[in-house]
Amino acid sequence: MNLRAVLVLLAVLVVVLRLLLARQKRRALAAASAARGHRCPDCGSRRVVGQKSIALAPDAEGKSLELKAISCRACTLRGVAVRRGDAAPRGHRLDWQVHAALALAIDRCPAPSDPACDCASHRRLGSGAEVTRDPIGFDLD
Ligand SMILES: [Zn+2]
Ligand SMILES: [Zn+2]
Repeated sequence: MNLRAVLVLLAVLVVVLRLLLARQKRRALAAASAARGHRCPDCGSRRVVGQKSIALAPDAEGKSLELKAISCRACTLRGVAVRRGDAAPRGHRLDWQVHAALALAIDRCPAPSDPACDCASHRRLGSGAEVTRDPIGFDLD
C-alpha cells in the first residue's frame, strides 16, 4: 500500500467515526428528552411524570377512558391525566389526598389495563367520583 492509499483510508475512517459519533449523540439527546416529563403548569420544569394508569369502561359517547396518576418531581403538583378516545391526554390538579387515593385504587385493581374489570376500584373510578378542583386542567406537552 502506498502512502496516498493510506491517507485516503485514514480520511475515510475519520469521516465514518464522525458519523458514528454524531449518531450516538443524537440518540443520547433523544433518550434524554424521552426521560424528561411533561411541562409542569405550576413550576415550569419538564418533570411531570406519570405513574400507574387504569383503563375505564367507555363513556356515554363510546369513547375509551384512561386515568393516570401524575406528579411533578420538582414541585408539589399532583394530578390525574385523563385520556378520552384518541384525544391527547389532559392533566387536572388533584389534592394530594385524592391523588394518593387514586394511586391506591389503581394499585388495588387486579387488571388495570382491562376496561371490563369489575373490581371495587373500577366501579368507584368508573362512577366519576374523582374530585378535582381543576376542571379545566392543563395540556400535557
Ligand atoms: Zn412542578
Ligand atoms: Zn379493576
